[in-house]
Amino acid sequence: MSKMTDCPVCDAEIKLEEGTEQGELLSCAECGSELEVININPAEVAEAPQEEEDWGE
Ligand SMILES: [Zn+2]
Repeated sequence: MSKMTDCPVCDAEIKLEEGTEQGELLSCAECGSELEVININPAEVAEAPQEEEDWGE
């Protein structure tokens, strides 16, 4: 059974697929934000911490 929650950034619906685990990273289909699953029951996601990426320049 999948669970629904809302994107904390843009409020779009986020569907957690069956088998989603706490700590998993998702991206919002609407705004593209990286989201971390912080709770499964109830379903809850938070904006994932942005990792510093080295773009090689
Ligand atoms: Zn979003």
